[in-house]
Amino acid sequence: MTTVPTALDARAARSDADDVLAPLAERFLIPGGVVYLDGNSLGPLPAAVPPALADLVTRQWGTDLIRSWNGNGWWDAPLRVGDTIGRLIGAAPGQTVAGDSTSVQLFTALSAAVALRPGRPLLVTDPGHFPTDRYLAEAVARREDLKVRHVPPAGLAAFLAEEGERVAVVSCSPVDFRTGELYDMAAITEATHRAGALAVWDLCHAAGAMPLHVDALEADFAVGCGYKFLNGGPGAPAYLYAAHRHHASLETPLTGWTGHANPFGMGPDYTPAPGIARARIGTPPILSLLALEAALTVFDGVDLAEVRAKSLSLTDFFLHCTTELLAPLGIEAVTPADPARRAGHVALRHPHAHGLARALAERGVIIDMRAPDLLRFGVNALYTTHRQLLTAVQRLRDIVRDAAYDPSPPAPGPVT
Ligand SMILES: *Cc1c(COP(=O)(O)O)cnc(C)c1O
Repeated sequence: MTTVPTALDARAARSDADDVLAPLAERFLIPGGVVYLDGNSLGPLPAAVPPALADLVTRQWGTDLIRSWNGNGWWDAPLRVGDTIGRLIGAAPGQTVAGDSTSVQLFTALSAAVALRPGRPLLVTDPGHFPTDRYLAEAVARREDLKVRHVPPAGLAAFLAEEGERVAVVSCSPVDFRTGELYDMAAITEATHRAGALAVWDLCHAAGAMPLHVDALEADFAVGCGYKFLNGGPGAPAYLYAAHRHHASLETPLTGWTGHANPFGMGPDYTPAPGIARARIGTPPILSLLALEAALTVFDGVDLAEVRAKSLSLTDFFLHCTTELLAPLGIEAVTPADPARRAGHVALRHPHAHGLARALAERGVIIDMRAPDLLRFGVNALYTTHRQLLTAVQRLRDIVRDAAYDPSPPAPGPVT
C-alpha cells in the first residue's frame, strides 16, 4: 500500500469534477486499467474508427469496388481530409493536403520553400529538431546547393538579425519533441519574415493539442503527422499546408500524376494542378486516409482553446505531483514550469529512463522514453484525467523508491 498526500488526491478530484471536456473520453476505446500517456507518439483508437473501417472495407471496397473513387469520395479524400486538418491548425480551406508521411511532406515543403527564395544560401534549422527534420534539411540543402545552419529557437532572432538576408528558409517545430518546451511561433515567423525568409513549421507535437493559427501568423508552409494528437492510427497519413499566396509559383519536387492539372488526361508532360492539389503525389492510401478522417471526428464540436486550458491544467498538476513525490528521490522535470512555454507533454530526467518506462508499463502506465535519459508523459485533454497523472507519478515513485526496475540500457531497435 502506498500512502498518498491527500492534498494531491483532493486536487485531482476537484480538477476532474470541474472538467467540461470529460465526456470526450468516451470518443476513445482505451483498455480498462490502462493509464495511456503516450498519445503524443501514437494516439489511442477513436471509437469512430472501427465502424468506419468496416464500412470502408466491406461495402466501399468489397461491394462498390472501383466505383468508390467517385461514389464514396475516395478521389477527393486528400483535399477533404486536408481541409479538416486545416481547421485544427488555423488554415482556411484549399491550403492543406493529407497524404504520405511527415518526412515526405517535409521534403516537399523544404524543397518548395527553398525554390521560392533563390540566391539565398542558408537553410536554418533547430539542432534539437526531430531527426527526420534535420536529415531532410541536409538532403534538401545538398540537392539545392545550400548550407544548413543549426540555430536553437532561443538564438534565432539574433541570428536572423545578423545573417538573415542570406537565409532562404527557417525550419522548426513549435514544440521540442524531447522536453515538451513550447516556442513562440508568432515571434519566430515574424523574425523569419523580417529577414525575407520563409517559415516551414512542423506541427507534429502541436496540432490537436492546442489552437494553432497558421493563416493568421502568415506561416508559409507547415507539415505534421496524423498519428499523434490527431489519433489517425499507426503510420496515418501526414499533411502539408502551403499558404495561398505561394500557390501560383509553388514548385513541388515530386511531380506525381495525381498532382497533375488533368490526371486522367494521361498526357505526356506534367502540368501542375492549380492550388494545393499539385502537392498530391501518387494514389492516396485510402484505408489509412479514411481511418484518419473518422479519427478526426473526435474533434467535432471541440473548442481547442478549452483543450489547451485543460492540457495546461494537466501538465501543471503533473509538475506539482513531480515536485511533491519525485523530487525527493532526485527526479526533476525538464519541461519549463511557465505555462506559456509548455506544450502537451512533460519530460522527466533519470539515468535509467528505459528501465523505468518498462516497469511503469508492467504496472499499466504507458509512457515512452527518449534516449538517453528522458521519460516522456504525454497528456491529451480529450481523455487524460488528473487522477491518472497522480496514479502515474505514484507508481513511478514506488518503482524508484523500491528500485523495482531493470537498470540495463535498452537493446537496439524500437523502444517499447
Ligand atoms: C513524429 C515526428 C515526425 C515523424 O515523421 P514521420 O515521417 O511521420 O515518421 C517528424 N517530425 C516531428 C517533429 C515529429 O514529432
